[in-house]
Amino acid sequence: MAEIIDGKKIASQLDDRTKTQVDEMIAAGMERPGLAVILVGADPASQVYVGRKIKACEKVGINSSEYRLPAETSQDELLALIARLNADPSVHGILCQVPLPRQIDTQKVLLAIDPAKDVDGFHPVNAGLLFTGSRGLVACTPSGVIELLKSVVPDPTGLDALVIGRSNIVGKPVAILLLNEGCTVTVSHSKTRDLPEKARRADIIVAASGIPEMVKGDWVKPGAVLLDVGISRVPGASGKDRLVGDIAFDEVQHARAVTPVPGGVGPMTIACLLANTVQAAKAQADDAATTN
Ligand code: NDP
Repeated sequence: MAEIIDGKKIASQLDDRTKTQVDEMIAAGMERPGLAVILVGADPASQVYVGRKIKACEKVGINSSEYRLPAETSQDELLALIARLNADPSVHGILCQVPLPRQIDTQKVLLAIDPAKDVDGFHPVNAGLLFTGSRGLVACTPSGVIELLKSVVPDPTGLDALVIGRSNIVGKPVAILLLNEGCTVTVSHSKTRDLPEKARRADIIVAASGIPEMVKGDWVKPGAVLLDVGISRVPGASGKDRLVGDIAFDEVQHARAVTPVPGGVGPMTIACLLANTVQAAKAQADDAATTN
């Protein structure tokens, strides 16, 4: 029987560590970490995600401020808000929920966020730091994937890893993190040939294609560790939709361990966001101390 990796439990343990760090900062006379969350428009899924992030901040003692802007907000208005938040010393992290409305260039907005406050880890400066093996702010979902992997395999050095997906926010950063952990990494995508055969050779599979249950049981080598990033809604037997991942969960009992969907990678994303906010606040306090 494959071990089911309990993302909720591991995320909650990470939250405990984050809360302890916040308490220590306050006890040391430092400012409470602050996260600004921007939501443009009323996309229902984004509203749910933003609500969860704000609530999670409360749990660990991070100050949160929410900026809900109408869907017709112009790019210049959004950039002006980001400039204000960049300059505000009580804001240590800035998150701009995507997708953004069509009139706004997402890349321009992500580039406008001060890399020191880029707690989503999407800014090219942070992506570059990751690429060179330095400790910048790492994208939250990829960080969460590595935490979950290490809960089962504390030292994955030398293992063969297959990443399915090459997006800038999941596939590529996960691949670099695995490489930095000493894995031998194959990155696959929609043009990859013989994917099942590549999967069968992997000790670790990170699936982030968004294709429901594409990784079948016979793609998986006995004893492999499977991390499922994908989330898709499919019609269930009862007529109600159900959430599934990219891995056919019921077919992989011969794996060593697998993350469920929901309750696997998802909870880690928010926990890593909070951890990043504290990391950013500490780094900004250190910078301020050196410049003073
Ligand atoms: P994207 O759509 O940006 O990327 C999907 C990737 O999968 C692309 O690189 C694509 O290849 C690749 N792909 C598509 N079809 C195949 C195929 N048949 N074989 C191999 N690779 C394929 O998605 P994201 O990276 O943003 O997200 C991936 C999934 O993870 C989604 O389900 C998303 O909802 C979920 N997600 C979950 C999060 C969480 O917190 N749990 C956070 C973020 C995302 P190509 O580049 O060639 O098109």
